[in-house]
This record gives sequence, structure tokens and C-alpha cells, in this order.
Amino acid sequence: MANICLVEDEQKVASFICKGLEEQGYSVKTAADGRAALDALKREQFDLVILDVMLPDTNGVDLCRSIRERDKDTPVLMLTALNQVNDKVSGLKAGADDYLVKPFHFSELIARIEALMRRNKIKQDDHLLVFDDLKLDTWTKTAERGGTQISLTAKEYTLLELFMRNPNKTLSREYIAEQVWGIGFDTGTNFIDVYVNYLRKKIEKDYKSKLIHTVIGMGYILKQAK
Ligand code: CA
Repeated sequence: MANICLVEDEQKVASFICKGLEEQGYSVKTAADGRAALDALKREQFDLVILDVMLPDTNGVDLCRSIRERDKDTPVLMLTALNQVNDKVSGLKAGADDYLVKPFHFSELIARIEALMRRNKIKQDDHLLVFDDLKLDTWTKTAERGGTQISLTAKEYTLLELFMRNPNKTLSREYIAEQVWGIGFDTGTNFIDVYVNYLRKKIEKDYKSKLIHTVIGMGYILKQAK
């Protein structure tokens, strides 16, 4: 269930939004001012922040800036009044992801929330390659299987990334040599097999299922064991 932080000082508006979102299955925490919002954001992880621009102790634009100083990823949706056109621009400059002008239809709010969460999910998933219980983070260049970190050398990492980007496809030794080492494959050597075995040891030895399989006479394939 997605967790939303709603920063809105007008009690009536806050409870209207809160009630509507809860009916849609969201979990909502309400903060009535900037300080309460920052406290809540420190304590808890939210999937989205809805931020009213006019707040008693600060304004939504400054608050958005403070949020962005410590959190670059959580989507922020600003609520602005019709006569606060400049707030839209400065809100977006301060790091808000979208804005909605009050008064709005509730369905519009839901549509914006869903779009923002979808976008954020794609952004987060972008650098993660997942196959079965194996995960590869292409930003940090780290791998984990079943939640346990696996330490890889640079070549092992590149080799695993190649497999993860081509799941369920047989990769020839020639192709692997070219992609990972940037060289043509010399049939007189077995270094590909050696490296594949290093990698297998690391990603399979403590686990029940094999992931990299030999395709005799062809090469290797990353697939789920039957
Ligand atoms: Ca307000």
C-alpha cells in the first residue's frame, strides 16, 4: 500500500483529500505545517508528498526545497491556488514534480498521483536488473541474490550484466568475448569458461537453483532451472 504525506493546513481540505485517498486504498499521514511535515518525513518513508503552497509557518516552495535537500526521489505534487501562478514555476524549480491548481476534481488528483508514482517506479527500476532472485544494480555495480550481497570483480560484473540483459538467450563464447572483453574469441583458449565458472561459484554455490546453464556446443544461457 502506497504511503502518502499530505501537507495541508486547512482542516476541511485536508480531511476531504485524506478521506478520498484512503478510499482509494492509500495510507495517508497529514501534516498541518512545514515543521510537522519535515518531522514526518524524517520518521517515515513516503511514496509521495502532496504539498500545499500556503502554509502557516512556511510556504510549499521553500518546504519543497528543504525536502529535496535530503530526498531527491520521492515525488512531490504541489497544490496551488489559481491566483498563485508564480508558485507553479518556483515550485517546479524547487524540485516539485507536478502541480495541481485548487479547486480540482478528485479524479484529477488521483490521475496525477498515479502518473507520478508510475514515473518514479520506472526511474527507480531503470538501473535495477532482476532475474529470479538475482538483482543487479547498474549504478552501484553490485549484485545480490535472495537479499545477500555478492562481491564481484569488474569482469565478473560485466559478464553477469551481459547475461542479465539477455535472459533466456543462448550467448555464444564469441559474443561474450566481444561484449565483455572487446576481443574476438580464440577457440584455442578457455578463458570464457573459466570466467563463467568463477561467476557461477559466486552466484550459485550457496543457492539451490542454477542460473547459468551450459548449452553444449553453443555457449551459455541465463535461465531458471526446471
Ligand atoms: Ca493552505
